[in-house]
Amino acid sequence: MGYKFGTKAIHAGQRPDPTTGAVMTPIYQTSTYWQAAPGDHQGYEYSRGTNPTRKALEDCIAALENGIYGLAFSSGMAATETVLKLLKPGDEVITGDDLYGGSYRIFTKVFENYGIKFHFVDTAEPERITEKMNKNTRLIWIETPTNPTLKLADIEAISGIAKTAGVLFAVDNTFASPYLQNPLDLGADIVMHSVTKYIGGHSDVVMGALVVNDRELYDKLFFYYNACGGTPGPQDSFLVLRGIKTLHLRMKAHCENGRKVAEFLKGHPKVAKIYWPGFEDHPGHAVARKQMRDFGGMVSIVLRDAGLEETFKVASSFKVFTLAESLGGVESLINHPATMTHGSIPKEVRERVGVVDNLIRISVGVEDIDDLLADLEQALAVI
Ligand SMILES: *Cc1c(COP(=O)(O)O)cnc(C)c1O
Repeated sequence: MGYKFGTKAIHAGQRPDPTTGAVMTPIYQTSTYWQAAPGDHQGYEYSRGTNPTRKALEDCIAALENGIYGLAFSSGMAATETVLKLLKPGDEVITGDDLYGGSYRIFTKVFENYGIKFHFVDTAEPERITEKMNKNTRLIWIETPTNPTLKLADIEAISGIAKTAGVLFAVDNTFASPYLQNPLDLGADIVMHSVTKYIGGHSDVVMGALVVNDRELYDKLFFYYNACGGTPGPQDSFLVLRGIKTLHLRMKAHCENGRKVAEFLKGHPKVAKIYWPGFEDHPGHAVARKQMRDFGGMVSIVLRDAGLEETFKVASSFKVFTLAESLGGVESLINHPATMTHGSIPKEVRERVGVVDNLIRISVGVEDIDDLLADLEQALAVI
């Protein structure tokens, strides 16, 4: 479909319901489907594998990523796990050294037990990936921008390395959302999303997704999707379809507020360091300009001269921002990565990549910017 993003967000994968003309995709709350004779069905047999509401959502997410095949999962981690199931004992993965905590956990605490080896490198420097490539390498898995220090990895450069070596290349595109970045267009084989975040956008659903272009790869992933069954139900699929209809509007507002929050915090006397890829002095700025359409709504700061106690005090003093895990919803959230989202990463590992005790991550929502800035000012004033 040659339509532009906002049109796809509202229409892709969806058409009036053939039985009633309902304009919105119905919630097909059914586990099973009638067959006229054994094997004679209308494409749907059992909802673990296929459900029309979920199918509409999968087609919509695939279209937003300029991809062909979409698969929705009951969480981002279920989507990630399904990609890892393509591997066998002895296979090796090269991935980032500042991943989402849950990804680090599933790699080291689950899949290492199945004989898969993970190399954690700074993906901002593609040579670090090349150095770890060997005959057992099967998968390169990256996040960009990373969580929470917003480091950038050059998707096109890394896809070149992956293609030369014939290894799969997957990008966790959660932080950017399909509105800001489309990894398949830049040569990635698999895009993964925690739909829970920007795509869902309302902090009311946990869901994941994969998008691919290659039929054979899709069939392999679909096999594990159906065989293992980490698929979402129709109610959640409906809620996400509804959320996606405003993805482009929300993302514009997230980017605009994100920029204003970043500019407000840069040079603030209580802020020692700020991470936002829109600043020219951000090390990944040039890559961000090249592969993203804007800089997003995620901003991280390191508080000046603050220990854990002062950082907790600031984190607990917000009135408009909510202290909570997660990101990407319409409401602004504050997160303390060291004890919350990244708590499952050992202290020395996380501090090496900048996840220090006085780091605060901000998911800038779409409230009125004046209220957000005033709230930041009063919270920083408590120390
Ligand atoms: C939240 C998140 C995940 C995990 O997704 P869930 O939906 O929570 O399972 C993976 N990667 C990134 C970057 C995330 O932010």
